[in-house]
Formats: sequence, C-alpha cells, structure tokens
Amino acid sequence: MFSIGIDFGGTKILIGIINQDGEIIKSIKRNVPRTKHIDEIIELTSATIEDLFSDSKISLSNISGIGVAAPGIVDADKGILIYAPNWSIRNFPIKKIFSDKYSMPVKVYNDVNAAAIGELHFGHGREENSFFWITISTGIGGALVINGELLLGNSGLAGEIGHIIIEDNGPLCKCGRKGCLESLASGTAIASLARKKIKNGAVFQKIDPKINIDEITAETVIMAAHADDGEAISLLEEVARNISKALSYVVNLADVDLMVIGGGVMESNGLLFKFIDKNMKRYVYEYDQRNVKLARPALGYNSSLVGAGALILKDKNL
Ligand SMILES: [Zn+2]
Repeated sequence: MFSIGIDFGGTKILIGIINQDGEIIKSIKRNVPRTKHIDEIIELTSATIEDLFSDSKISLSNISGIGVAAPGIVDADKGILIYAPNWSIRNFPIKKIFSDKYSMPVKVYNDVNAAAIGELHFGHGREENSFFWITISTGIGGALVINGELLLGNSGLAGEIGHIIIEDNGPLCKCGRKGCLESLASGTAIASLARKKIKNGAVFQKIDPKINIDEITAETVIMAAHADDGEAISLLEEVARNISKALSYVVNLADVDLMVIGGGVMESNGLLFKFIDKNMKRYVYEYDQRNVKLARPALGYNSSLVGAGALILKDKNL
C-alpha cells in the first residue's frame, strides 16, 4: 500500500509517493508559483502528481489516499485550510478539491502537526511515545505528542508554542499581540534583532559593514556567529534563552522529555541548538529528576512529507 504525501511550504511544494514503512519511493520538489495564487498552486500540484507517476512502476490505482501538510491553520475534520498567511487565502477546501479530482480519501493537517505525525510513526516516535515537536523557521510552530497520539485540542490549536507570550510589551507579533516567542526567536525575529542592534550602534565583526541593513537575514547572523562573531553569538544566546524558556513550559506542563527541533533556522546551526540545550537546565522544574533531551528530526527535512503520507497509511478508519 502506498500514499501520496504533499508538503505545501511557503515557497516550496514537495510531493512524494510514500510506502508503509514511511519510505519515500519517489519525490519531486517544485517552487510555489510566484503569484502564490491558489488556482496555480493546485494546477502545479496536479501536474506534479502526474509527473510522479509518469515513469514509476506504481500507478494511481496502487494509492490508497492523499495526505496533505498545509502551511497555516487547518480544520482537519473538514479538510479546510482556514488561513494561510503566506498564500493570503482563507477557507480553502483542499480536501474537496483533491477528493473530487482523484476519487480517493484525502486528509489535511497543518504542516507542523504533519511533521510530528511523521516523527511519531517513522522517526523518534518509534523510541519515545511522548515528545514535543518545535519548528523554528520564519515563524515558530509546535505539536505535542502524548502516549502515541497527537494532541489537537478543542480548536486544533494545541502546541502553538510560537504564540506563548515570553515578554510583556515585547516586539509586535503577526498575531497582533506583543512579545510572543515567535516575535523573539523566529528567523524573522533574529534578523530584526540584528538590525535593531546595528541601528543602536552594535558592531558585528563578521557581518560586512557595507551590507544593506534590510538584507540581513537570520542566515547572515547564524553564519557570523559560527565565524565567532561575539555580537552574533550573544544574539543567538538571547534567542536560545527565550526558546528554552518556552520549551520549559512544555516540559513542566506535560512532563515530556524529548524536544525534537526542526525548521530552517536550525539547519547548520549547531550553536543555537547547543545554547537551547544549555538553558533547559535553568528553566525546567526538577531538571535533575527528568531526562530532558533535545534532538534533530530523525526524518531530516522530510518529516512533514512523510507525515502527510502517514495520515493515510496509519489511519485505521481507511
Ligand atoms: Zn503571536
């Protein structure tokens, strides 16, 4: 049995054929059309699904369903993308579109929850049946798996660690409130923290002084820190303290030990990982009685794609 997994990112679409062992038989990556118009996105997705099967021994008749990881707030019961800020759309019926077209079961989860599902069935979850997943990229998302089950909550918003308020009157978050973790520790926040520090006179030794300040990204800061730039290192330490603080709330509340940290900001970022780890001890209640561990995703960049496939493969009702 196979499924199709679709991982819709803000800028990339990854589509793959997944087998029952969570292996990606074949996958294709495409850029989201520049217009980000939903009709074009869906058209490109359908064309890519055709390409996927064009020179494969597997045909659509071998597929038991389509799992979708979508970038935004999702009503998983109805299969509706309620809001995708990157694509500027609301209330889009993803499930209906694909089930009408392919006449097979379709399941839709938010991409962060899908990543946790991927890890649950085919990654860290094989060793630990409770863990917390956190994505640190342009935004911050999280998903809580307890005793082998993903916790969705009443509104499907369980695990939204990015919008825990860490600092009263901190920077404005895109959710409209101030001082959320996302506004202090996402990739976007790292870049704007660096710009603010430079405007206030800080000197980053390993950032080109001629760079246009608006061109500074999280990657600029992360590379500088890894080149031993003291200012960049202390910026990452500050970011790490906020992430550790938020993760400590999860540990204290849910008593889970394993934190799986994914997302673009963590790639090639051993320092941030190390600083988060160091600070957990400071914030977690009864740290010595627990076995708190940080880990990278066992499925690498493919957690959401494999998780999307697993939505179908592991659904006992299908
Ligand atoms: Zn927020």
